[in-house]
Formats: sequence, structure tokens, C-alpha cells
Amino acid sequence: MTDAAIVGTGPNGLAAAVTLLRAGLSVELYEAHDTIGGGLRTESLFDSDVVHDICSAVHPMAAASRFFREFDLPARGVDLLQPEIPYAHPLLGEDTVLAHRDLAETSAHLGADGGRWRRLMAPLAAHSQGVVDLILSGQRSVPDDLSAPLLLAPRVLAHATRMPFRTERARALLTGVAAHAVGRLPSLAASAVSLLLGHLAHTSGWPLPRGGSARIAQALAADIAAHGGRVHTGQLIKDLGELEGVPLVLLDTSPKGLLQLAGDRLPSPYRRALERFRYGPGASKVDFLVSEPIPWTDPQTGRAGTVHLGGTRADMFRTESAAVRGIQDPEPFVLLVDPAATDPGRAVGGKRPVWAYAHVPNGDPRDPVDLVRRRIEQYAPGFGDTVIAARGLSAAQYETYNPNYVGGDIGSGAMTLRQSLLRPTAKWDPYKVSLPGLYLCSAATPPGPSVHGMSGHLAALSALRREHGIRVPPPLGPHA
Ligand SMILES: Cc1cc2nc3c(=O)[nH]c(=O)nc-3n(C[C@H](O)[C@H](O)[C@H](O)COP(=O)(O)OP(=O)(O)OC[C@H]3O[C@@H](n4cnc5c(N)ncnc54)[C@H](O)[C@@H]3O)c2cc1C
Repeated sequence: MTDAAIVGTGPNGLAAAVTLLRAGLSVELYEAHDTIGGGLRTESLFDSDVVHDICSAVHPMAAASRFFREFDLPARGVDLLQPEIPYAHPLLGEDTVLAHRDLAETSAHLGADGGRWRRLMAPLAAHSQGVVDLILSGQRSVPDDLSAPLLLAPRVLAHATRMPFRTERARALLTGVAAHAVGRLPSLAASAVSLLLGHLAHTSGWPLPRGGSARIAQALAADIAAHGGRVHTGQLIKDLGELEGVPLVLLDTSPKGLLQLAGDRLPSPYRRALERFRYGPGASKVDFLVSEPIPWTDPQTGRAGTVHLGGTRADMFRTESAAVRGIQDPEPFVLLVDPAATDPGRAVGGKRPVWAYAHVPNGDPRDPVDLVRRRIEQYAPGFGDTVIAARGLSAAQYETYNPNYVGGDIGSGAMTLRQSLLRPTAKWDPYKVSLPGLYLCSAATPPGPSVHGMSGHLAALSALRREHGIRVPPPLGPHA
């Protein structure tokens, strides 16, 4: 009998497995899909050697989080490639606004608002590790070093209520980053996200793994195999009874998935709290296979790793709010990545992938191909002529692809203030499920969405402490 079972092999399930194995437990993982990785899959979709990132593509959090700093992706052969420019925000009829890695260059580019941008980002960049470790934490304890909270709290509050910039260009640039929170704008959660991601562009960057996101999952899987972990793919767990006798079970699932797996076993107050958990807007994704680099009106846009197609700050306020309220906007916020611009090896035989998704209402059934193509063509006329093939996954279809994305909510729960701090419920230990030996380790637990591994790592540390009395985190590095 194994010491621990993990249901789901997204980055959090894999990070939990690495942590438990390093502490000396035996671990078995169960994955519904034929391949591991959850949001870290890279696959060929069309009749071509070009591969596409099905979910995540850009990894500021994997470059910065405490779990991945200790795990050390570069030492395991994962090249985190820095785009020439971390992100860009095209505006109709104007030059594209660019966020350079270099803070001084960004400030110079932003003209009248350059000084304000520098004063906002420089202190965060100077204390980057503290800021990252504070936001990507279990959010239930007071840090020993208070300099990061004292730096961050007033800025988060100020930016949720008052935009510090005078020019539309700087306003749009920061609001495009805030929109990564996928929810109403402005909000405290979006303000925190914009400051976290915004300053990371000027420190550890917004890199892409050479060859695609699956390289991160493969590195985690290699460590799991090296420490004796066993992975069972193609195995959907439908009921916790299938794991009866395993003393410790960690679920890399949504709260909805937990409710389905545990059924009536959960005590009523905890079950009702999970039933009240709210899901956010959906993502509708298109993977394009194209014959040429994107013909941006402003060619500078093509130097960026990530492109925000959101228009002005007012446009983004309107469209993000529409998605929250369930209204189908014809011009939604679109995030776009042309991976070959950073990783030339992603272009094969004159063909290249383009990754793009729109923020839409939860459960939106619309096929996103035309919606997203039209949005790109506003900033890159002629893009449609370069498209060889396209595959759309609507928000509704995302949940079929991965049950963790309820209604296409890739944030694993609405980023309301309450759910940013108290996810999935208001329990002191957010990872412990109210059943013996059971834990939730997905992005529905703190610190929330993105590929940082911290939810899985912190859930595993909670389980080691409670079930085995192990209080010292195990070493995670390649040579430990
Ligand atoms: C379109 C899209 C774009 C994104 N872009 C980025 C990005 O660029 N950068 C970034 O950092 N993040 C991005 N994300 C978010 C990121 O992918 C997620 O936050 C992250 O993958 C969550 O990790 P997880 O381990 O909690 O869950 P997941 O990665 O969702 O993995 C859960 C796994 O559990 C499996 N599973 C669930 N239930 C069961 C069951 N009952 N039995 C067996 N297996 C089960 C699923 O099949 C899945 O493999 C994106 C997501 C999407 C969808």
C-alpha cells in the first residue's frame, strides 16, 4: 500500500508529489488524461510538426516562485527563454506601448508617465523576492520580515482606487496586466496581480520554456520517477472509494471536483461552504497554425513575448465587466503569444503556432475562432490570410477538456476579494479537507492560479506536518 495518492497531475499535483517523495513517502499519481501536466501540455494539433501549448504558455511565476526557485528548472535542462520585450499593448492608430525588461528603458518609452512607472515598479523590483513570497504564500500567517507587506499593501490599495498615470498609454499598459486576474476592473485582486506581474517583467521576466510548457511538466515528472513515484495516466478517479485504504490523498481538482469525489462523506458545513464557491469568467482559446510572423501594424509588437489586445483602459473595464456579468462582448480582451518570436525552434518548415485566448462569460459556448481572429486583425490586418489551420476551444469545452476549469474558468475560482484571500473556504488551513487524510492541492487553494507549484507544495507541507509530524520542508534541488 502506498503512503499517498495524488489525483491530478497539473503543476500543483506534480509539485505536491515532488515534495512528498522528497520527504520519504511513497506516492502514486492518477491522471484522467493520457498525458500528464494539466495546464502544462504541449501537443501537435494539426498535420504538422509544430507543437502548441494547450493551456499555459508564459511563465513569470515558474521563474519566480519559491517552489521552482528551489526545484531549479534551469539546472534540470529547462531553458527559460526571455523574450526580447516581456509584453506589449497595441493601441489603434498609435505606436504600440512596450514594457521592456529594463525599467529605465520602459520609463523612457512612457514619456510623461515614465517617472511614475519607475517610482511604482522600482521599490517592488528591489524587494522582488519578498513580494513574490508574500503573494505566492498560504496567506494565513504573518511573515517574519514585514518589509514586503508594508511595501505592497498601500500600493495595492492605492492602485485599486486611483490610477497613478496621466497618459492613456501607461494606463492601458498597466491595466492590460491587471486583466490577467480575469475579473471586474478595478479591484484589489487585479491591483495585486498587476503589481506582481508588472514588476516581474523588470526582474526575473516573463519567460517561455524552450520547446513549450510541457518541458516544465517533464522536469517535474523526471524528479518524481527518480524518487520512486508512480504515475497512472488515463485513469479518471470518480469516487474517493477507489482510493480506500490509502492513508493520505491530495486532490489536484476544483472544489466542484472535490464535491463529486467525496459525495455525502463531507460534513455539511464544509460541503455547503464548497457549494458556495464561485467560479469566474471563462477563457475561449484558439490555436492557430500560420505561415508567417504576425503582420502587426506596428512591427515593434512582434518583439514581445506576450501581447495584450484590450484597447484603452476604459475598453478593458467595459469588456472585463461584461465577461463577469455574463454578457458576450464582440471585442473581448485577448492575450496572444507568438512563441516562435522568442523560441525560433517553435517554427518548423515555414509554419508556426499562435496562441490566443479571449476572456468571455463563464460557460460561453461560442466557437472563438472568428471572434479571436477578428480581434487580432484589428491590430494586424492580413493575419487571416496567414492562417493555415485553427482550433478553437470554447469556455464550455474547456471544462470537458479539463474538469478543473469549471465553465472555462482558468483561474480556478472567481478572483473576488474574499476568494483571493480565503480560497476555497474560510478554514485556517485551506488545504485540509474536513475528512481524515484528505487535502486539496489545486489552484483553488492559496495562492491561486498560475504555474507556480506553490498550492501543491504548501498542501504537501501541511499534510507532512499534520499526518507525519514532519515540520522541516524537504530539500527540492536537483542535487539534494
Ligand atoms: C488557456 C489557458 C492559458 C493559461 N495561461 C497561463 C500562462 O501563460 N501562465 C501561467 O502561469 N498559467 C496559465 N494558465 C493557468 C494555469 O495553467 C493553471 O493555473 C494551472 O495549470 C493550475 O494548475 P493545477 O495543478 O491546479 O491544475 P491543472 O493544471 O488544471 O491540472 C489538473 C489535472 O488534474 C486532472 N484531474 C482532475 N480531476 C481528475 C480526476 N477526478 N481524476 C484524475 N485526474 C483528474 C486533470 O485532467 C488535469 O490534468 C492558463 C490556463 C489556461 C487554460
